[in-house]
Amino acid sequence: MKADLHNHSYFSDGCLSPREVVRLASKANCDLFSLTDHDTTHGALEAKYEADKLGLNVVHGVEISAFWRNSTIHILGLGIDIDNDELQTGLEFNQKLRKERAKKIALDLSRSGVKDALEKAQMISGGHMLTRTHFAQMLINEGYCKDMKSVFRRFLIGRKPGGVRVEWKNFKEVIKWVQSSGGKALIAHPFRYRMTHTKIKNMLIDFKEANGDGFEVVNSNSSNEEILLGNKWSEEYNLLASIGSDFHGWPNQRVKIGNLADLPNNSRAIWSYL
Ligand code: AMP
Ligand code: MN
Ligand code: MN
Ligand code: MN
Repeated sequence: MKADLHNHSYFSDGCLSPREVVRLASKANCDLFSLTDHDTTHGALEAKYEADKLGLNVVHGVEISAFWRNSTIHILGLGIDIDNDELQTGLEFNQKLRKERAKKIALDLSRSGVKDALEKAQMISGGHMLTRTHFAQMLINEGYCKDMKSVFRRFLIGRKPGGVRVEWKNFKEVIKWVQSSGGKALIAHPFRYRMTHTKIKNMLIDFKEANGDGFEVVNSNSSNEEILLGNKWSEEYNLLASIGSDFHGWPNQRVKIGNLADLPNNSRAIWSYL
């Protein structure tokens, strides 16, 4: 089973259309695919249409920003019904937060001498939803930084220029949005939040207690050690295991669709429960 259940298109911060992303997944011989744009399902129907043409199985997905304690985390909703009102009301709430944040980021950047940040970021997003990635790309284009990594060190975080706190909903509410639409709720990339292992485990325990379904055990950037640890925790806390590349299609990104390590334990794999 070759699954890739975490991918982005230009409806959030990816570079490619849903159609192009699906074509890459098909070319990589994926058996199961999901488009999981940040806080929107606007690309879902295009992805489904193309996947049907190519005979690729898809489940509708989304990656939702949420709070666990004081940290922003990302919750994947997989196998969702994109016509569900509760889910879409939640996503619209996050889209509104993003619009307000984008204006604040632009204002903050202008104080550091970056002019017309909102307009320039909007040009890059092609009028689609704005993410910090678009501001990051703009700062690179304008010569402020040389790559994504350095942008996110110098801008757009904490007290740095363009760092704006967003009051995302609590993870418990986001789990409900996903599950009320018939989907499974999973924590994305648990090792990417700059948390200690103890803190990650506490997050997983809280997530399970709130009826969360699982977490991403295999991601493009996972080390072998992380995969084994994730597998152990999924057994220990009785959480399902997901697998996804977090492909964005950025020109210099090494991540490839469908190019992922196997799950150590297929009996907990999310695809049997979708
Ligand atoms: P947002 O959801 O708008 O806050 O933007 C978050 C997105 O920015 C993530 O999904 C990543 O794609 C990207 N991102 C965040 N931090 C970094 C980083 N240090 N390096 C590269 N990309 C990052
Ligand atoms: Mn992203
Ligand atoms: Mn994410
Ligand atoms: Mn992602």
